Amino acid sequence: MAEKEVVLKLEKVSKSFAKIETDEVTHALNNVDLTMKSGEFISLVGPSGCGKSTILRLIAGLINPTTGKVTMDGKEVLEPSPERGMVFQKPTLFPWLTVEDNIAFSLKMQGKLKGNEAKVERMLKVIGLEAFKDDYPGQLSGGMAQRVALVRSLINEPDVLLLDEPLGALDAFTRMNMQDEIIRMWQEKGQLAIMVTHDVDEAIYMGTRVIVLEANPGRVVADIKIDDSYPRDRASEKFVKYRNDILNKLHFAGKR
Ligand code: ADP
Ligand code: MG
Repeated sequence: MAEKEVVLKLEKVSKSFAKIETDEVTHALNNVDLTMKSGEFISLVGPSGCGKSTILRLIAGLINPTTGKVTMDGKEVLEPSPERGMVFQKPTLFPWLTVEDNIAFSLKMQGKLKGNEAKVERMLKVIGLEAFKDDYPGQLSGGMAQRVALVRSLINEPDVLLLDEPLGALDAFTRMNMQDEIIRMWQEKGQLAIMVTHDVDEAIYMGTRVIVLEANPGRVVADIKIDDSYPRDRASEKFVKYRNDILNKLHFAGKR
């Protein structure tokens, strides 16, 4: 169970960006309403440019809506906070720090490292990189670096974990292992996780809910509860049914 139960809402959120070279405006999101809470694993899927990263950046407080609002427990989200931790597609590690120091970095910055050394050790163990703790990011494979980036965010125990295509750059085998690892860590903590992916199977395999978006303007076209226990079987009848349903909603099933 999460230490703190939270409710996160997007209320009639729209976000527009001025295009740089013309007078036109990009409607990245139009009138999005969403309610999400602790214990949920939300998968956001949709074509490139439908506003998935924009939703995460709004929730992180890195940007603010053009109209509407984002709230956490009723309080408007206007700026970043350690309560809402983000993991990006490309691992963002400090190249001049070792694996161990990268993981410990935020605790150190907050003056919380003392007494929490065991937590750093545990994170190293969780990602199976104890033997690499003194290595530098440049010495790691892409999958290893991504694992470090993930626990580097998890060590803050954010109430809301934001994942922007965290596994996009990994090979298929590492990717599947990481999916299981993220699910295990999320189940242990029970926080609200919100993950962007453009892989429909990954969205269903991991999510308690799959939210399907469409572009121009970015909007929610479906919100599907995945009623299946973990670990999931990608070949089960249930799974295949969800897949067909979602692909249909994405217009990729070749029927239109
Ligand atoms: P996704 O993550 O689903 O691929 P994004 O949320 O990154 O989509 O972007 C949605 C739309 O908003 C795209 O058309 C993108 O070009 C535009 N956009 C996003 N961020 C900016 C920005 N900072 N300035 C201008 N346009 C942006
Ligand atoms: Mg994106």
